Amino acid sequence: MTEKIHADLMIKGGTVLTMTDGRPIENGAVALNGDTIVFVGTDRDAAGRCTAEKQIDASGCVVMPGLVNGHTHAAMSLFRGIADDLPLEQWLSDYIFPAEKNNLDDDFVYWGTKLACAEMLLGGVTTFCDMYLFEESAARAAKEMGMRGVLGEVLYDFDSPNYGPIDNGFAYTEAFIKKWKDDPLIVPSIQPHALDTCSPDLLVRAREISDTYGVRSIVHVAESKGNVAHVREKYGKSSFAYLDDLGVLNERFVAIHAVWVDAEEIGIMHDRGVSVVTNPESNMKLASGWAPMHNYLERGITVGIGTDGCASNNDLDLFGEMDTLAKLHKVYDADPTHMNARTVTEIATRKGACALGLGDITGTLATGKKADIIVIDFNKPHLTPVYNPYSHLVYAAKSADVRDVVVNGQLLVQNARLTKADPAEIMAKGRELAERVNKSIG
Ligand SMILES: [Zn+2]
Repeated sequence: MTEKIHADLMIKGGTVLTMTDGRPIENGAVALNGDTIVFVGTDRDAAGRCTAEKQIDASGCVVMPGLVNGHTHAAMSLFRGIADDLPLEQWLSDYIFPAEKNNLDDDFVYWGTKLACAEMLLGGVTTFCDMYLFEESAARAAKEMGMRGVLGEVLYDFDSPNYGPIDNGFAYTEAFIKKWKDDPLIVPSIQPHALDTCSPDLLVRAREISDTYGVRSIVHVAESKGNVAHVREKYGKSSFAYLDDLGVLNERFVAIHAVWVDAEEIGIMHDRGVSVVTNPESNMKLASGWAPMHNYLERGITVGIGTDGCASNNDLDLFGEMDTLAKLHKVYDADPTHMNARTVTEIATRKGACALGLGDITGTLATGKKADIIVIDFNKPHLTPVYNPYSHLVYAAKSADVRDVVVNGQLLVQNARLTKADPAEIMAKGRELAERVNKSIG
């Protein structure tokens, strides 16, 4: 006789996409107990085996793992639309860096991160990776919102508005790692900004901390032609040859962007086990270029997708990002078979989780995994009929189609509304802080 399964919550009746190798399960059921998935299968099998305290009817919906936003600067939600249509270097030096210098503090990052988490949760994102300042406040905000996050304080050679000189930055990061390393939701990391803002010494010290604590080292690499030219001029090498010679590349190294790389560099990335997170809309908006994702996939490099910060996107919508990723690469590669819908959905879930080192925790629906689950309402004209659910997820669904969201067993969005946070309060605070930003940049 099969053992009965007790569940706190069962989501039943929908098409379940596990994002493992299995096919979609029609009339499926996913059950969770506490923070963990305890059953994935058909509704009929669940009826004989599971008793659930609470049920959610997902008829006509797709049930799948929560999306993974592999790179953002969450609190930059408060700089959304502050300056558009400028080259990367001018956008940073004339607007973003001054706005940050004059406004960032714990309160700003706390509310900016809350605003970002509200947007991401409502859009089906259950895990995000954040590089910003005052990251302790970002962690507090993410934790209160109930989101899973891989977070790290941004490090660079010049003084930071948070920690001052870089030595303090390393101390801040180590304290941050020690504080959060056993947290069920917040995963600490070390995040040097980029190759033109971080000295070789900084990058090597970051690798040492990554080794000591076993955390991800996450760095913007080869985002623009300007970045690559800088490395070439200063060190006489390509970006990844330079990083490899420093000895900082390994399976915990995550390269954000990796747009301008050559075949030799892709070989190095593969050999060292480096992961990549692409941010297609940000790269397009800043006219930086596009990452050779098809080549990365062909070499078996682990890839994720991110939105980057709100100031260069200008939203945190992973559905829009997936659609863009697919179409951009078809145009770039002049091949409509590249980046098919199933592959893109994998990048936004399972592969993205693996890139962040969370492959054993999230990114698929399977017994024993943490319960990070989203329900997308396909009972809509623009999602009817359904021949292939992956096709709709990438080419037709919008973040507004997300109906219910569970993170680590907690039902945080129900019927497209946040259950534990008040969006009106968060938005009011955001508008208030934006007034301060406006004054500070004249
Ligand atoms: Zn970024």
